[in-house]
Amino acid sequence: MGLIVQKFGGTSVGSAEKIQNAANRAIAEKQKGHDVVVVVSAMGKSTDALVNLAAEITSEPSRREMDMLLSTGEQVTISLLAMALQEKGYDAVSYTGWQAGVRTEAVHGNARITDIDITAIRSQLAEGRITVVAGFQGVTEDGGITTLGRGGSDTTAVALAAALEADKCDIYTDVPGVFTTDPRYVRSARKLAGISYDEMLELANLGAGVLHPRAVEFAKNYQVPLEVRSSTEHEAGTLIEEESSMEQNLIVRGIAFEDQITRVSVTGLASGLTTLSTIFTALAKRNINVDIIIQTQSDDGEADISFSVKTEDAAQTVAVLEEYKNALDYEKIETERKLAKVSIVGSGMVSNPGVAADMFAVLAEKNVQVKMVSTSEIKVSAVVSENDMVKAVEALHNAFELSKQPSAV
Ligand code: ADP
Ligand code: ASP
Ligand code: MG
Repeated sequence: MGLIVQKFGGTSVGSAEKIQNAANRAIAEKQKGHDVVVVVSAMGKSTDALVNLAAEITSEPSRREMDMLLSTGEQVTISLLAMALQEKGYDAVSYTGWQAGVRTEAVHGNARITDIDITAIRSQLAEGRITVVAGFQGVTEDGGITTLGRGGSDTTAVALAAALEADKCDIYTDVPGVFTTDPRYVRSARKLAGISYDEMLELANLGAGVLHPRAVEFAKNYQVPLEVRSSTEHEAGTLIEEESSMEQNLIVRGIAFEDQITRVSVTGLASGLTTLSTIFTALAKRNINVDIIIQTQSDDGEADISFSVKTEDAAQTVAVLEEYKNALDYEKIETERKLAKVSIVGSGMVSNPGVAADMFAVLAEKNVQVKMVSTSEIKVSAVVSENDMVKAVEALHNAFELSKQPSAV
């Protein structure tokens, strides 16, 4: 007998029928004698619908009210799932984030979980109840409702699993596991039996939407055994664990990609020691996340700086730079929109120099122009035109033979 945390994403609870299916999955674990906590997302695309509704009222909704609005989506699902469980003869209770004791920092729209008071959940489990918890939401110290960022229900589930010292956290979703790349874009993508926390964290941060990056962070920090699996098919999913035991020695394990990227270039900067810090402090103050940064210095003392931001932040980035025109003393700002970032990830890269070279050779052969590059120990990212994104992913997927089952080591 153990404790299992299950999480069902939006598609997996998108209708009354699917909620019944989720209830059956919870019951199956309960029947094995486990305590069961179920975390759910809002039904189907209802969070998007709420976002659109707000946009009909105002173009600049207050972040507090946005959280108030978006947190309602999950509340619909928890009550319906608890009802479904009760209807099937099982004792169940639903909790919103604050009722479940999920405390967060006071940041609306993208709050981090600071701690979880598990007293209430523990006492419900002790009574034998299946406890259903709203994902994606929490409460600040002074009682404000917060949300954890889009896709954040995964994080609620893993954080609860860590706090409750669960034996397992199962993420049920609309794909049967973590694939070598997004199977919706690349048909030859292959389901991975296992992947390490570090590789999954890179993939999630680089755009693989299958798991919220902070969920992977929690899983790694608290060593939560995590499995991504299908909510409809009864088959083993992908285990995310310390070292992927099943498929070792893979130089490239997976490919992530992300569109809607803009390159901003500031040219003819009077190069001074404080230039870089002035630019990036100003952007950080406005909560603009800067990704890849490239600086080039010419002999005459002038500098050019290029960096990438999300396209939704591009206009504000330019506005901030214009505000600082006098302090920075630059010649001009240029932006290039409609870019995408394609990244190859694999822990075997650490000991294999030349992976980046191979990647660039593949892209060159396909006439894909690389506009920016960034690397870490276990990934190489290339910024390319949005139009080339899928072609680049497919070419790399082929070249690194990701659809082939690797031989066991
Ligand atoms: P949920 O609503 O269950 O949280 P998400 O839409 O957030 O589901 O995540 C599942 C989706 O992630 C899949 O439908 C797939 O398109 C996408 N995805 C992106 N990269 C990958 C990958 N490497 N493996 C599997 N799915 C991926
Ligand atoms: N409902 C939220 C969203 O759509 C949270 C989640 O699905 O994980 O982003
Ligand atoms: Mg998700």
